[in-house]
Amino acid sequence: MPTTLFSEIEYLKGVGRARGEKYRRLGINSPYELIYHIPRDYLDFRAHVPVRQAVLNEYNVLKLTVFRKMPPQRIKGGLVICKAAATDGTDDILIVVYNNVYSFQAMKEGGEYYMYGKVTGNFLRREISSPVFISTDETVLIQPKYHLTQGLSANMIRTNMRQALEIMKNEPFETLPPGILEKYRLCPLMRALESIHFPDSELSAETARRRLAFDELLKLQIGMSLMRTRSRRSTAFGMDSSIDVNEFTEGLPFELTDDQKKAVKEITADLCRDVPMNRLLQGDVGSGKTAVAAAACYFAAKNGIQSALMAPTEILASQHYRTLSGFLEPFGVRVCLLTGSVTAKKKEKIRGELSAGEIDVIVGTHAIIQKDVEYKALGLVITDEQHRFGVAQRAALAEKGDAPHKLVMSATPIPRTLALIIYGDLDISAITQLPKGRKPVSTYAVTGKLRSRAFGFVRERLDEGRQAYVVCPMIEESESELFAVKTYAENAAQGDLKGYTTALLHGKMRAAEKDRVMQKFRDGEIQVLICTTVVEVGVDVPNAAVMVIENAERFGLSQLHQLRGRVGRGSFESTCILITDNTSEECVKRMKIMSSTTDGFKISEEDLKMRGPGDFFGNAQHGLPPLKIADIACNMELMKQAQDCAGEILSDDPLLEKPQNRPLKMDVMRLFSRDIIG
Ligand code: ADP
Ligand code: MG
Repeated sequence: MPTTLFSEIEYLKGVGRARGEKYRRLGINSPYELIYHIPRDYLDFRAHVPVRQAVLNEYNVLKLTVFRKMPPQRIKGGLVICKAAATDGTDDILIVVYNNVYSFQAMKEGGEYYMYGKVTGNFLRREISSPVFISTDETVLIQPKYHLTQGLSANMIRTNMRQALEIMKNEPFETLPPGILEKYRLCPLMRALESIHFPDSELSAETARRRLAFDELLKLQIGMSLMRTRSRRSTAFGMDSSIDVNEFTEGLPFELTDDQKKAVKEITADLCRDVPMNRLLQGDVGSGKTAVAAAACYFAAKNGIQSALMAPTEILASQHYRTLSGFLEPFGVRVCLLTGSVTAKKKEKIRGELSAGEIDVIVGTHAIIQKDVEYKALGLVITDEQHRFGVAQRAALAEKGDAPHKLVMSATPIPRTLALIIYGDLDISAITQLPKGRKPVSTYAVTGKLRSRAFGFVRERLDEGRQAYVVCPMIEESESELFAVKTYAENAAQGDLKGYTTALLHGKMRAAEKDRVMQKFRDGEIQVLICTTVVEVGVDVPNAAVMVIENAERFGLSQLHQLRGRVGRGSFESTCILITDNTSEECVKRMKIMSSTTDGFKISEEDLKMRGPGDFFGNAQHGLPPLKIADIACNMELMKQAQDCAGEILSDDPLLEKPQNRPLKMDVMRLFSRDIIG
């Protein structure tokens, strides 16, 4: 049988068991997957410099003739070092290759090469270590840089890539119909794949990348849309519009803002239809999404329908539970909390009540979507901070009921263009105004030199009766970072915050312990909460009016904004102090943006501008399938085009059933895991 694109990777010449294993380590199992191993960047051998001009301690391209190869030296630990002397005609340089005899063998005495590698040494004696090289006879001078793994060199990949591309030529494929290619000015897929690996110019690499990034964005859109279409079955939970939700909203301790009222209206209208609601409730931190969600739950409960609210953390779940039960129980709506730390016995009881319909609203973490949880009539599913849930988890929750209505709440204002991609064609209700009486948080960025003054300010506010957060980054959640945070907390308690009650809160604490600390903070028994980003989402303590963020440079704009949203929730003047010693342009810009605006939508636009959409895609929290190309190559314009194109294809063929769309459908299924699309 001839080798096909989907044969095992070992069918390629020169790929045995060992190399096959290495390919698999990179997620490459077949020639097809090899072809989609897209270079992150290129090495341009045309840009070579004389040895004398090489920038020391940096990567340079040199044009060298090897004039003497020395025998390999074996040193301790099985390491092999190979050395050769080379010259550019004027200056000599030593080539040192570590542990790669294979690569060294390919270098011939007397041969002339372009070599790319880190140059070290001084003016008298220079060295280039483990260079990537090609013969100066080579006509392709722009070479791809691949993500490699130990024992798999760029040269090997290139050789195998050529073979894989040959196979591709024997079974040509194209995922898009000609009309689409023409309309969106896309080059054919085969050509794109060839020139992404072996471009003959920067332009051809660019053209190829555009096509492949477009494909990926298109597949993403279409996949998201197919998932939705599947859930667009009619719902059994069309509700009764004569139920008056105002009875509830008017009984709240505050008047809803106009945006909140509008959102409630849109949601209840959706709930009365016989297709499931699919709505995103977007609103900046503190804009009052929970009250809107409560109104939706009320409406459902009065219709005899159960609601579930899923939050990403236990802290948040229990807070929502408190808020919702406070709002709803006076109206006879029964609310219950179910998280991983509820005892087995209690869980059993809750499960019984859920299936008997004795609970109207269940609030919890993903414990509420576990297999053994059954509902009597789950018709409304709400997920909070939904970017933290993966596509699969969301789907699992939706499967629980019989085509339930879905509301997702997000406090991460996402520019509309991106929201459309990440959330697909969800309807969007946006709360853009904050409740009356809120004062914008004043934000200052300072260097560590001003730390003690900053804490002087914190103490003043504490003396006035307010509470404070001090946020320390713990990005990797590693033991050493945890240690640093603990030490910091101890030092602060003995130093800047001596005499005040402080407590530490971090993600590695047990849920019950976290809850206990949070409760004490809420009750005012703790004045300063020294914490990691566990407070990022949703925590609501209106008396907390100061936040200090240490190492602010380690947070992105959106995350800083989220964090800052923990203060300014009451009627007090609030302050956020960002401490950083980082003076890079990027960091300074971020700090400036934070100090100049509190508008979440504006901040996310800026974030998008600074980091590009790729960062949003690359963010696993969105639960999107991993993208290989679009994350670095896409821009807003391309995204818009892919979006238009997806719309065009799907309006003609919503389930991709027409023969001409079959290749595209296959491709979409490869990007998403099959079971999600079904
Ligand atoms: P988020 O949108 O960040 O989830 P919350 O729902 O937690 O915001 O609301 C933040 C705070 O504002 C809560 O204490 C809530 O009770 C209060 N709140 C909500 N809506 C209003 C309103 N219309 N007027 C005054 N306070 C409100
Ligand atoms: Mg919230």
